[in-house]
Amino acid sequence: MARSIVVVEDEALIADAIAARLRSEGMEVHVAGDGPTGVAYAERFEPDLVILDLMLPGMDGLEVCRLIQRDRHVPVLMLTARDDETDLVVGLAVGADDYMTKPFSMRELVARVQALLRRVDVLAGRGSARTLRLDDDIEIDLDARRVRQHGEIVHLTPTEFDLLVGLAERPGRVLTRERLLVDVWGYRDGSGARTVDSHVRALRRKLGDGVVRTVHGVGYALGEADADVAGEATEG
Ligand code: CA
Repeated sequence: MARSIVVVEDEALIADAIAARLRSEGMEVHVAGDGPTGVAYAERFEPDLVILDLMLPGMDGLEVCRLIQRDRHVPVLMLTARDDETDLVVGLAVGADDYMTKPFSMRELVARVQALLRRVDVLAGRGSARTLRLDDDIEIDLDARRVRQHGEIVHLTPTEFDLLVGLAERPGRVLTRERLLVDVWGYRDGSGARTVDSHVRALRRKLGDGVVRTVHGVGYALGEADADVAGEATEG
């Protein structure tokens, strides 16, 4: 079945270029030129992914992001005109899964889109029941993609879930941001370190500060550390 993508972008040239490229990859693309149309298309077409420009006339991209996630979580790839940290942090906080700063290459866009869609597949395609148990009375049901803490369901976005699983599958191991970007986001791009930080903050907000440990100058870990560091050391 063809993947369905909604592109919300007021700059027609960019929207058309994205649509043409994704259609050439076999995807079904609906282009909305403003926020309200984007929200309406997300409801009507129930896309597998939304590509959302942050700077839109009338209703800004953050509000659009909130509205399209009201009823069901849809992966959102946010497009920003500049590398504005405040916008990005807020964007990731309201549920965007990834972002790209303009200008970007169509090849990179396709790589990001495919990485996000692969995670949707993981969500749909798991077999027998498997559960990971962590400290702080946290249970991760890998098949239902559900997290419980003290028996209560904790609502995580798909990206937060994948990040938690990425860390939980290697307890005690210190993972660099680069390693997590490859494992969880599925691409090699050192510039996305803030994406990792922002999602770690979200996990701590939802599960408690002690759940994900910062290993200063290296990365993140769950549980007790050993000397085993996965990936290259980074500043941080
Ligand atoms: Ca725009």
